[in-house]
Amino acid sequence: MSRWPPADLSTQDLSERAEPRTRLPNPKAVSLGDREVRVDWSDGHRSVFSNKTLREACPCAGCAGEGAPLGGRAFIPLKVAAPEDIRATQYSRVGLYALAFAWSDGHSTGIYPYDYLLGLCECDACLAKRAAQG
Ligand SMILES: [Zn+2]
Ligand SMILES: [Zn+2]
Repeated sequence: MSRWPPADLSTQDLSERAEPRTRLPNPKAVSLGDREVRVDWSDGHRSVFSNKTLREACPCAGCAGEGAPLGGRAFIPLKVAAPEDIRATQYSRVGLYALAFAWSDGHSTGIYPYDYLLGLCECDACLAKRAAQG
């Protein structure tokens, strides 16, 4: 991540260079809040992730360890619990498949593929669906 922090990405329209053939939705808008990160996807889905959940699900090698299922939908427990007041300070688009976040604890190496993000989504619909699946 030698190019971190990226310039002005927080105001960039992420849909501009979206890959039309991709099977996954693209993030059209990302908002970083005090308690949660919200992502509006190109398919109309509105994802909500609590900051703590997202930080603790960081799939980077330092957090998740070797062999983390990058791109999988399984939740990866963090080795170290995130502080309650953790928040994302910046985000960046990584290629056409992932978002990266910089966190208030100084961590910024996690890359979250879209399908992994969607698997972490805490919107009402996703929570209900996951509860139904057990
Ligand atoms: Zn990490
Ligand atoms: Zn959802």
